[in-house]
Amino acid sequence: SSMAADTTTTATCGFCATGCGLRLHLREGVAVGLTPETKYPVNLGMACPKGWEALRVLDSPERATTPLLRGADGKHQPIGWDQAFQTFVEGFRGVQERHGLDSVAFLSTGQIPSEEMAFLGALARFGMGIKHGDGNTRQCMATAATAYKESFGFDSPPYTYDDFEKSDCLVFIGANPCIAHPIMWERVLRNRNQPEIIVIDPRRTETAMAATQHLQIRPKNDLALLYAITNYLIQNDYVDQDFVASHTNGFETLREHVAAFDIESVARAAGISPAAVQRAAETIGKGSAVSLWWTMGVNQSYQGTRTAQAIINIALITGNIGRPGTGANSITGQCNAMGSRLWSNTTNLIGHHRFEEEADRRKVADALGMDEQCIPSEGSWKYDRIIEGVRRGEIKGLWVIATNPAHSWIDQSDVRELFGKLDFMVVQDMYHTTETARHANLVLPSAGWGEKEGTFINSERRIGLIKKVRHAPGEALADFHIFRGIAHYWGLAEQFAEWTDPEAVFRILQRLSRDQPCDITGIDGYRQLDACGGVQWPWTEQDAGDDRSDPPQQRRLFSDGRFFHEDGRAKLVVDSVEPMPEPPNAAYPITLLTGRGTVSQWHTQTRTRQSPVLRLLYPNEPYVEINPVDADALEIDHGQKVRVQSRRGEVIVTANVTATVRRGQAFIPMHYESTNRLTLSHFDPQSGQPSYKDCAVRIIPQ
Ligand code: SF4
Repeated sequence: SSMAADTTTTATCGFCATGCGLRLHLREGVAVGLTPETKYPVNLGMACPKGWEALRVLDSPERATTPLLRGADGKHQPIGWDQAFQTFVEGFRGVQERHGLDSVAFLSTGQIPSEEMAFLGALARFGMGIKHGDGNTRQCMATAATAYKESFGFDSPPYTYDDFEKSDCLVFIGANPCIAHPIMWERVLRNRNQPEIIVIDPRRTETAMAATQHLQIRPKNDLALLYAITNYLIQNDYVDQDFVASHTNGFETLREHVAAFDIESVARAAGISPAAVQRAAETIGKGSAVSLWWTMGVNQSYQGTRTAQAIINIALITGNIGRPGTGANSITGQCNAMGSRLWSNTTNLIGHHRFEEEADRRKVADALGMDEQCIPSEGSWKYDRIIEGVRRGEIKGLWVIATNPAHSWIDQSDVRELFGKLDFMVVQDMYHTTETARHANLVLPSAGWGEKEGTFINSERRIGLIKKVRHAPGEALADFHIFRGIAHYWGLAEQFAEWTDPEAVFRILQRLSRDQPCDITGIDGYRQLDACGGVQWPWTEQDAGDDRSDPPQQRRLFSDGRFFHEDGRAKLVVDSVEPMPEPPNAAYPITLLTGRGTVSQWHTQTRTRQSPVLRLLYPNEPYVEINPVDADALEIDHGQKVRVQSRRGEVIVTANVTATVRRGQAFIPMHYESTNRLTLSHFDPQSGQPSYKDCAVRIIPQ
């Protein structure tokens, strides 16, 4: 047929941080179809529905095809790029002149390639004098990054996906890989050791149903439970004494701290049987290759960092790290959240350096060939502080890139009102229809995945390549070229003269990585990433040798027991357990959980709802899961409309009466525009990550 492909090429997927390889079928250089790549070391021939539909979501009438400027009538009108860049510069310069340099901030994403992310961060902070900017990775991975940094000395997920297949015990805490990371779950199903699978989750998720043990704790009892398990492991001689003595600090403090957490009382408070906790602890203690995995149930929590560290502690004291099938393993969310953690230049100086350290600033200035004076000595405000800055009138200009905070930020009604307080707001996105783009003075149309080049870093630290296999619609440009345009119109063309194309920036990132734990100086360019199925960091010049050899495809960290703190030891970190900030009471008796509801939709559905297939797989009618006993008491029938109210807002949704949630709890997926009208604005103190999963609501039949 006329659509028959004449060649194929492979690129990594642009939705989640699994980072599957997709084989693109090209006709005259343009993708006409795709299939999962069989040779890619991540997915081994598999893909989830989002990956299969990755091309379809590019063809949508909602794509932004020209820059759009809000006119006096409040409507967006198409303009050309020259006027758009001039409007951008005049708008933000004007705000900076009226309110000071720091009155403009940006909010970015884990969805764009590292090269674009680095360009944005360098342009904003080293060029435009913008001090505050943060990414939506704050909603996603900030907790894991903070926990690793303090425990290991660097933000360094230690594992490789092969570990899913090598464990004899896998523990999933606040993670539902069956639907959230389905290809990782497929790797678990390939495990031939008949592993024990322990799930710690308040909800009876798809993963919990497939587990051999499910500890269905009351919300926010995870930290106490992990301490009780740690205490049991210590009391019952399951500690790897040699490993603890040679490779960790803080064991005595840990031992004393967890002594107060006995299984009996912790289990009762968590609403589960002490015998079940003891069984799980025994399984972990006796396992020879135990891996512990966590994601948003832990990260999106007001004690997220300490909970992640409680998981890390268990892996460390039992010596379950650095060997096949082990590890304290954060599963990342967005396709390039890991790139954001290294390159965004927001709270950390680019390349995971420190703004506060002069030596780091000098190193970065040298690697970039820029004047040291343009490298600031302070990190940015975190996301929540930027939002607070808008509220207080400190931030008057906002530049939003490939993210949708009017849907996704916690306590959303507040966020939308706050956008009204801005003098000037620019949204740069593939679609002009997002909840956030509607607030913008200026919309800049972006090319998406498949329409541009660059690299992503997946959950197991693998750097994978994306490719241009489609033409962006209309006048949409790769974010990379939008940043180049801005650099030019802002008068920074000379400072960014070397930043000509993504691969040139990749070489800059390699220079920046030198001597860091994430050193990638040994990678032989995009060519090698393409040829060998991506490369996990680190891969140094010494690793590669003179012949620039290809790295082994599965590499994990810490096999020598050396961590990234100066003394080479990991740190065992503990803290007190805090009560829930908004506990249920007589007026709001139900605790609302939120999370991913389906394999087929992605976050705020900006892209995935553009696919008819994905919409069929997940009809977009908001629902709430309610326990049958609660439904009976409230006289709610399955399928009827109910009103869910919190102290901040309300939503009308359909009741899904199901025992996946326990009595006194309810669950609404995150994918609906309305979910965050309910959530309570509160945060993990160490990471600043929002705690989305524990607000009090009431449910009223309609
Ligand atoms: Fe893409 Fe993630 Fe699905 Fe793989 S699992 S195809 S990376 S969305």
